[in-house]
Amino acid sequence: MGSKPGPVQIVTVCKEDHSFTLDEEALERILLTPTVRDKNVVVLSVAGAFRKGKSFLLDFMLRYMYRKGDENWLGNDDEPLTGFSWRGGSEPETTGIQIWSEVFPIQKSDGSEVAVMLMDTQGAFDNQSTVKDCAAIFALSTMTSSIQIYNLSQNIQENDLQQLQLFTEYGRLALDEIRLKPFQSLMFLIRDWSFPYEYTYGFKGGNEFLEKRLHVKEAQHEELQTVREHIHSCFTNISCFLLPHPGLRVATSPTFEGQLNAVAPEFKEQLKILIPDLLHPDNLAEKEINGNKVTCRGLLEYFKVTRLSCLCLRGSLLAFLLCLVHCQT
Ligand code: GDP
Ligand code: MG
Repeated sequence: MGSKPGPVQIVTVCKEDHSFTLDEEALERILLTPTVRDKNVVVLSVAGAFRKGKSFLLDFMLRYMYRKGDENWLGNDDEPLTGFSWRGGSEPETTGIQIWSEVFPIQKSDGSEVAVMLMDTQGAFDNQSTVKDCAAIFALSTMTSSIQIYNLSQNIQENDLQQLQLFTEYGRLALDEIRLKPFQSLMFLIRDWSFPYEYTYGFKGGNEFLEKRLHVKEAQHEELQTVREHIHSCFTNISCFLLPHPGLRVATSPTFEGQLNAVAPEFKEQLKILIPDLLHPDNLAEKEINGNKVTCRGLLEYFKVTRLSCLCLRGSLLAFLLCLVHCQT
């Protein structure tokens, strides 16, 4: 205790046998911190393929959390960006889930207090076995979060929707009780959006774009309809945000350390809309399990059972689901 906050790897996928390890001690240390353990928890997770700016975005969320009330929360021009590890290059890090060691107590406008946990996932989608690991990681992060941000590059491809279907189906099957809508909020975050003249940046253009993409049309191929119906049936709340390209130095420079002076102005402008909206106290949806809000302490128990049911589901069932998804293409 009292040590500097930082990212903590709580779930690791073993490269050899694809098994999970949950660092229960670390999770306990974080979730049983006296200032938060009995508060209802909000879990915000960012998931998706590697090297698409997930950690980079989370680091700006951290800045917002630590500098709230400061008009200049986004940072100074030459300040390096720190927090979750993010970096350039094409090598993925360990597949798994990291959380920030500090859970933030936040007061809502009705006076109630919640505890906010930020979750980062890492994974690659480069072959069959890593797809399995990612499905499991995505499922686990969807099951344990109340807000899932599905981070995508440039567009929503049919393939992204199919993967989402696979991941959520995996998660749904791992739940004890099948509820009508097993998960809470899903936000598609499209990075490097390059058609602002068709759909404007931000939530407005994003939601219009998503509406069109997820619309079930009669003339559509049956499989395309099923994917869309499935996604609608899994989440109580679905939204989309279109984020512009951050500029070439962010995307390609090996010496870039996150300094704002290298970030495109329109990207910063949209971050200033996106992050305060996501983290606005009244927008922070508390994590619910079977319709009941859970505390940090409750989430810890849930993590332990969820991981077990995910493990039981591995292997044959996932192979079957993968086959289903591939048969559709
Ligand atoms: P993660 O693996 O998804 O967590 O990705 P990182 O946050 O580690 O970022 C990977 C690389 O993408 C870094 O070089 C970032 O500078 C860069 N990056 C961050 N955000 C964006 C974005 O919105 N678009 C593009 N093209 N690159 C980004
Ligand atoms: Mg990352």
